[in-house]
Amino acid sequence: MLKFSNANTKLKKLERFLDKGKKVYSFDLLSGHSCPFAKDCLSKAVETVDGKRSIKDGPDTLFRCYAASQEVEYTNVYKLRKANFDTIADLIRNKAAVSMIASEIQNALPKMPALSEFIPLVIFST
Ligand code: SF4
Repeated sequence: MLKFSNANTKLKKLERFLDKGKKVYSFDLLSGHSCPFAKDCLSKAVETVDGKRSIKDGPDTLFRCYAASQEVEYTNVYKLRKANFDTIADLIRNKAAVSMIASEIQNALPKMPALSEFIPLVIFST
């Protein structure tokens, strides 16, 4: 099941550009695994045989991805991003239509009191 997160401090600053009462949420995916063009920054959290996680840098990594480091450090962060990533990847693997994927994401949006006036500002972040 897809899940949105509360915006981090940086993204929350975008709320000042929205109408009063509107909020920003983030939809997080696994870093590195979901960045097909990452090169200098490419790092991924990978599961090890003992059930832990370690970081794996790409062949050209010059600086390590901060978000991937978080996923190694914090189990809940890793689990949430992995669940979202796996759900989207499964839909793509099963050749789900783009509209179905969009619908899944829309259904996961946090419920707002005044839904008729709700304009989602979705920021995909890792
Ligand atoms: S910094 Fe991390 S999340 Fe951003 S593109 Fe590079 S690997 Fe992906």
